[in-house]
Amino acid sequence: MVIRLKRCPSCQRNVERDLAACPNCGAPFTWGASRYEPAPTLMPPRLPVAPAPHDVTMALSASLLLVGTGQMYNHQIAKGMVMLVVTLGILTLTLLRWSTPLIAVMLILWMVSMLDAALVAGRVLNQEQVRPWQWF
Ligand SMILES: [Zn+2]
Repeated sequence: MVIRLKRCPSCQRNVERDLAACPNCGAPFTWGASRYEPAPTLMPPRLPVAPAPHDVTMALSASLLLVGTGQMYNHQIAKGMVMLVVTLGILTLTLLRWSTPLIAVMLILWMVSMLDAALVAGRVLNQEQVRPWQWF
């Protein structure tokens, strides 16, 4: 019986050619016809990440904390950003010249944005087609 030897590329010792891994250092190898080829790396299969179901409460609480963020959560990014900028503008005006009408406008916008965020989140949850600037 002829044992064919080959040099392990990892530890440089002579090992039996037909082995799947080096008995000395444990390095896996597949011998090619004439040259060493590293064993193919086994990659775990990429599992598709299941998206979390859309959350109405999440949209509502985001809008409660900061106007526009609930809309962004609902994938209405531009609409949410415009709402945020407009609200910050009105907030600045309100702080500069403290006036009841401005405070009222702020509160109404806030309520409307929360209502909008919750209703649109419900549509997203029901997998309805929601346009980027759609309201309620
Ligand atoms: Zn080895």
